[in-house]
Amino acid sequence: MKTYSPRILLMMVALIFAILVSVLIFIYTPSDINQLTAIIVGFVISFVTSLLMLFFVNIFFIRKINDLLVTVKQYREQSDKPSTTLLYNGNEIDNLNLEIVAWAEDRKEEIERLKKLEVYRKEFLGNVSHELKTPIFNIQGYVLTLLDGGLEDPSINRNYLIRAEKSVDRMITIIEDLEAISQLETGELQLEIERFDLAALMKDVIDAQEMKATEKGIMLTMPEEIKPLYVVGDRFRIRQVIVNLIVNSVKYGKEYGETKIRFYDAGETVLIEIADNGIGIAKKHLPRLFERFYRVDKGRSREQGGTGLGLAIVKHIIEAHNQTIEVMSTEGVGTVFSFMLKKG
Ligand code: ADP
Repeated sequence: MKTYSPRILLMMVALIFAILVSVLIFIYTPSDINQLTAIIVGFVISFVTSLLMLFFVNIFFIRKINDLLVTVKQYREQSDKPSTTLLYNGNEIDNLNLEIVAWAEDRKEEIERLKKLEVYRKEFLGNVSHELKTPIFNIQGYVLTLLDGGLEDPSINRNYLIRAEKSVDRMITIIEDLEAISQLETGELQLEIERFDLAALMKDVIDAQEMKATEKGIMLTMPEEIKPLYVVGDRFRIRQVIVNLIVNSVKYGKEYGETKIRFYDAGETVLIEIADNGIGIAKKHLPRLFERFYRVDKGRSREQGGTGLGLAIVKHIIEAHNQTIEVMSTEGVGTVFSFMLKKG
């Protein structure tokens, strides 16, 4: 709808009022008075007086509208979102409308964001308590059995303590992963960027994981005769990424399979590929694979000591290095994870 400027509106209202007065004068003019003069005088006086009155009333309202405009603008600028400067191109009411619409849009987005955050918070709490419940109940079960006489039974006492310790280890892993996720998500974690030899780091991780892999008959291989390969990044965090990916390739690898680590020169960056010939991942799971607590097969993951946080941590670390992590997988054939790092 077209909105008139307050000045035009004032003129129109004053004009209508003056015309009404003139019509009344026209109807009720006594016969001894010149009708035309009476109408002109009546019109001018009523037009000028009503215009003046309306003008002062208008000043009062315009002031109030401007105050309101300043308040809304201040609220809008106080929001977390960087505020855009609006282009005022109409009268005060149009400008106020513009500010209110922009403010309402900001609020809408903010409410949507808070709603999502609330859903995430609830989900996260639910997942955390669910993950911690299993090892806690296990420990409780072992301790109660030991207290109920098991402590004196040499056939179970040591065994139950070892099992309880395993559950404690599991809780520590979950808590360490949660801590890492929370630091990465709140931006608390500062990367310590340095130049380091990626090939040496990879060799180091392979050596550390070799025993676990051989238990399953899996071979961890990387190119022989590899020269030092210098990259820049946070060495400790990149180690965490490689460990998570190699551990997964073993956890979800087939017996007597192979995990191949390959490096590709990509100009200013190095592409790192960790490929297994394990169980693979169905296509429908791939888009959600890097979400916290997302697992393809919950039972299998827990059985393997997984927390469901490993890939979420990997993604955060790689993104903190301004790179992306990619996954390609075929169910029953194998999985390839790849990411790039800047050469050093
Ligand atoms: P988890 O602790 O369960 O291993 P991750 O975040 O590391 O959690 O991985 C999420 C899920 O992705 C796993 O539960 C598993 O289903 C799937 N996954 C990860 N790596 C592989 C892989 N190399 N092969 C097959 N599935 C994998």
